[in-house]
Amino acid sequence: MNNDIEFYWKKRIEKCKEALESNNFEAFVSPDISTARDLIQNEILPSLSCVSVLSCVSVSWGDSISMLSTGIIDEIEKRPEIELIKTFEAGVPREEIIERRRQALLVDVFFTGSNALTESGKLINLDMIGNRVAGLTFGPKHVIVVVGRNKIVNGVEEAMHRIKNYSAPLNAIRHNSLKTPCRKTSYCTDCKSPDRICNTWVITEKSFPKGRVKIIIINKDIGL
Ligand code: SF4
Repeated sequence: MNNDIEFYWKKRIEKCKEALESNNFEAFVSPDISTARDLIQNEILPSLSCVSVLSCVSVSWGDSISMLSTGIIDEIEKRPEIELIKTFEAGVPREEIIERRRQALLVDVFFTGSNALTESGKLINLDMIGNRVAGLTFGPKHVIVVVGRNKIVNGVEEAMHRIKNYSAPLNAIRHNSLKTPCRKTSYCTDCKSPDRICNTWVITEKSFPKGRVKIIIINKDIGL
């Protein structure tokens, strides 16, 4: 049975990788989060001209459980030659965090995840503030997206359904400060809450320029 499951995911991920590449994304497959971190550190980052020169390299990120679970941001923090713009930091006033998120749109390398990935190679995302989808779309020279296999869906409709009925309520539940109705019900009521986290949809059909967006599919269920 385990071999059958492995075969299922191998085939599904391969198909997705091919579709991403035909959409001008650079795509990678990794068996687990630690291999993904090594891939980013040892292959992807050194291949970027701005990083290999090692001068004035700036890095930031948009919120993603999958990407953060690789530990890549912790590793980058240990490298003094890289300027890391921390868009999440305990004890920093909200105004300062928002300003940092604005600055993060001009970095060399932007890390994030994706709410869903279709079999035809599209990224589907729903954002609260917009800094995550903004960085994915324009600004940072390179974008590195980490996504678990559980985010693979058949198409845009299934992606939107999954995000609104699973990812978004769970995302609200994991943030104690939010007061959205889905934190109590666990389902979406298309609320008008001032804390609403579902504000901007972005469908990334292709990478422009080619290769700007690099996607690592991890062959494990991670993230929401
Ligand atoms: S629209 Fe409101 S209720 Fe629905 S998932 Fe988003 S935050 Fe929750």
